[in-house]
Amino acid sequence: MARYIGPVCRLCRREGMKLFLKGERCYTEKCAIEKRNFPPGQHGKTRKAKLAGYGLQLREKQKVKRMYGVLEDQFRGYFETADRTKGITGEVLLQLLERRLDNVVYRLGLSTSRPQARQLVRHGHFLVNGKKVDIPSYSVKQGDVVTVLGRSQKAPAIEHAMGEVKGRGIPGWLSFDATTIIGRVVSMPTREQINLPVQEQLIVELYSK
Ligand code: SF4
Repeated sequence: MARYIGPVCRLCRREGMKLFLKGERCYTEKCAIEKRNFPPGQHGKTRKAKLAGYGLQLREKQKVKRMYGVLEDQFRGYFETADRTKGITGEVLLQLLERRLDNVVYRLGLSTSRPQARQLVRHGHFLVNGKKVDIPSYSVKQGDVVTVLGRSQKAPAIEHAMGEVKGRGIPGWLSFDATTIIGRVVSMPTREQINLPVQEQLIVELYSK
């Protein structure tokens, strides 16, 4: 599956908020949002766009897409699935994104960012219910057990991430035992447990035009 390979801090500056795409750097003063919180480009500093209607909806969609590292076609696919599913479409959409295996690895603290989690999953470091899964978009379900492949438990990136993100907290729908390095999907994520500053209703309005 294709992915964005351009400069990522630019994406945060475009959205005017931290999307946490670079791991530890996002928590330091080197973060581009701390230093240059204005849109990228020649006129970024001077152009003051007043967003309304379509503009607002578009930005909200881009924000979520970029946070989860999903491209347009795949994102639309998630929306269509959410639209067909019983429940509040915007919340179901976030729930589907949150259940991606790369996001779960990130939320469990086994990577410092979602892009890194995606790479680790791609490289086959994780098992779901004892079976190797190397598909970042793999959707976990309640009761699933996520573990690290035996020889990967000492992988520098995973060891480093576990030390680095300690104390950042794990959402209530997941549990994690740091001694055995076993993560569990305790329940499906609720909107309250998905700690994202986004108005998902705007995305629904955008796609419903
Ligand atoms: Fe975004 Fe992280 Fe870059 Fe800051 S350091 S602009 S949060 S990707």
